[in-house]
Amino acid sequence: MATANDVFDEFLDDRGHETETASWEQDHNKKRCPDCGGLHDPEATRCSVCGWRPS
Ligand SMILES: [Zn+2]
Repeated sequence: MATANDVFDEFLDDRGHETETASWEQDHNKKRCPDCGGLHDPEATRCSVCGWRPS
């Protein structure tokens, strides 16, 4: 019997692993949130604007 995790993995496989960006984008010496575009200091671990963080 498939677990919820198995179903989720198959869902990802079906999409060809085109998942969301899971890391910060770089903008000069800043980090840019890939979700909302907010800029943060390099030491930021999560977006203070929308709450996004690297998975
Ligand atoms: Zn954000």
